Amino acid sequence: MKTENTVWHEQHISKAERAKLKQQQPCLLWYTGLSGSGKSTIANAVDALLFARGCHSYLLDGDNVRHGLNGDLGFSDTDRIENIRRISEVGKLFIDAGLIVSTAFISPFASDRAMAGELLAEGEFIEVYIDTPIAVCERRDPKGLYKKARAGEIKDFTGIDSGYDIPQAPRIHVKTAEKSVQACAEQIVDYLLNQGFIQ
Ligand code: ADP
Repeated sequence: MKTENTVWHEQHISKAERAKLKQQQPCLLWYTGLSGSGKSTIANAVDALLFARGCHSYLLDGDNVRHGLNGDLGFSDTDRIENIRRISEVGKLFIDAGLIVSTAFISPFASDRAMAGELLAEGEFIEVYIDTPIAVCERRDPKGLYKKARAGEIKDFTGIDSGYDIPQAPRIHVKTAEKSVQACAEQIVDYLLNQGFIQ
């Protein structure tokens, strides 16, 4: 870290003031689940519901971030951790700006998710477990990745030859095989309403 000669500037407008202006409590919805479980689909549907309610939200999609900000990172252990760190730090800035932020990454390791949570203030990190049986993900196979992984064309594929730590106490647990995309999205928005993040 090269921070010796930089000083953190306190800003005149606080996080609380920005949040008040938007009439919402900023937070980070951290979607985790297997590839094809529905993270991007549901996160997008939630974003649309929030937008329709006049809430200010933003979705940091895993693949999209890898095209830009994290374009220099690969999938080694070090790069994977750096990927999560940058995403969390960007999420933190967006929270500071008063937004309801969503991130949709497989994030298979509990330690990485914990690291993301630790960067934020108490209560701001909301782990959303998109729980879909692997057989269902494989049947959906929206990007054809399971087919490739089964054919040995992709190594270290989560759920096949790489592990996934099941969230032990997710704040929101969504079972996508049992309900529609819309119903899954409404479950998440209802949580935000019930917990007072949005009005
Ligand atoms: P991920 O972001 O987790 O890799 P995607 O959202 O890209 O997953 O893909 C999930 C696929 O499953 C999409 O094609 C979506 O239309 C489909 N799908 C079917 N039912 C559901 C559901 N109830 N919730 C989420 N996705 C669903």
